[in-house]
Amino acid sequence: MAERIAIVGASLAGMHAAHTLRREGFDGQLTVIDADPHTPYDRPPLSKQVLAGEWDPERITLPAAHEDLDIDWRLGRAASALDVGARRLSLADGTAVSFDGCVVATGAAPRRLPGQPELAGIHLLRTLDDCLAIRADLDAGPSRVVVIGAGFIGAEVAATCRHRGLPVTLVEVAQVPLERALGREIGQVCADLHRDQGVDMRLGTAVEAFLGDRRLEGVVLSDGSVVDTEVAVVGVGVTPNTVWLEGSGLRLDDGVVCDETLLAAPGVVAAGDIARWPSRRFGELLRVEHWENAVQQGEAAARRLLVNDEAAEGFDPIPWFWSDQYDRKIQLAGRSSADHAVEVVHGSLGEKRFVALYGRDGVVTGVLGFNRPRHVMQLRQLVADAVPWAEAVERARQL
Ligand SMILES: Cc1cc2nc3c(=O)[nH]c(=O)nc-3n(C[C@H](O)[C@H](O)[C@H](O)COP(=O)(O)OP(=O)(O)OC[C@H]3O[C@@H](n4cnc5c(N)ncnc54)[C@H](O)[C@@H]3O)c2cc1C
Repeated sequence: MAERIAIVGASLAGMHAAHTLRREGFDGQLTVIDADPHTPYDRPPLSKQVLAGEWDPERITLPAAHEDLDIDWRLGRAASALDVGARRLSLADGTAVSFDGCVVATGAAPRRLPGQPELAGIHLLRTLDDCLAIRADLDAGPSRVVVIGAGFIGAEVAATCRHRGLPVTLVEVAQVPLERALGREIGQVCADLHRDQGVDMRLGTAVEAFLGDRRLEGVVLSDGSVVDTEVAVVGVGVTPNTVWLEGSGLRLDDGVVCDETLLAAPGVVAAGDIARWPSRRFGELLRVEHWENAVQQGEAAARRLLVNDEAAEGFDPIPWFWSDQYDRKIQLAGRSSADHAVEVVHGSLGEKRFVALYGRDGVVTGVLGFNRPRHVMQLRQLVADAVPWAEAVERARQL
């Protein structure tokens, strides 16, 4: 039985792991390490209510941070190395933490554009400090905000800026937003959603350069146009935070590769945005960058540390996420991509209020809803049961 457990990453997955360990009766030494100095917080409001100026940062503290979990906190300190054999973590401040069990939950970090300069006014968005820096720039009333990347984070930032009454240009290199994740047809709906709200959409367009000396003055696009702006937010995807694990012996390949029980090495589990594990359900290695996955995986990884190999259970739920943009709640249960079949089973794309199924290899794999939360929840079961495609479409239409 583990007597000392260390959690690296005090965010959603890590704090749910901490809560679960105590709830399941772990009464040994629990150390929680995070490079971020803030009390652990939730990230979705960073592109929504906190960025909008509607919520104070205190409101997004994770509930587990308020609980009496008897934690040895090491906040504001990065882990710099993991020695799997010696079961020891090295911290950037020169200290070390020995453990019997370790939860690796260091999440992911936003990508930068190639050659992105260090100019005031150019932002990434992942942390509370990132959010407050953008918010301060928005409070100053910029002439325009340029959002680069129309993925979920970029789209939400654009929506929040419009909500604040600011002119927005949204630059996306693909022909439509979310083309790889949702396909061309649904991506077009996302583009229309922003256009309807007055966003200047620049699709199929890349950023060539940023103008300005110390402060951003403009963005040069691949079509030769220049957009004058003092604020740009770059949202071009994330990379799992694995650099500190190089040389640890863990298998690193677009995340920490685990077995189906989330074990990455004896005594070491991974959870959240950093974990890549084999899903039997979908027949592939998955790494999921969504809130609910981090919650469920943090809990499952914690339980994994408390049982032996025989009692370990596989982790294989249906991924689920939501995104709030303007008055639309977009939800996806399961898997989707541009190479999946897609069928609208309720509502209409034109009204941007609909339910669509995604399928691959003759079975339904995902259900997407625009302002249809009840349908998404009900049709999730079709994905759970891997219902054949034609039958799934028919059953969904009858709902
Ligand atoms: C702005 C924003 C909005 C989002 N909105 C939604 C949404 O609407 N719906 C949805 O489903 N998902 C959303 N997400 C995604 C969701 O928040 C993430 O999936 C979730 O935060 C992942 O949790 P995690 O604990 O795995 O990793 P993270 O939240 O990334 O946390 C990792 C932690 O590890 C720490 N860390 C990293 N490296 C080290 C190191 N070497 N040493 C010590 N600590 C380290 C970091 O400081 C961080 O606190 C959003 C994310 C962002 C950024």
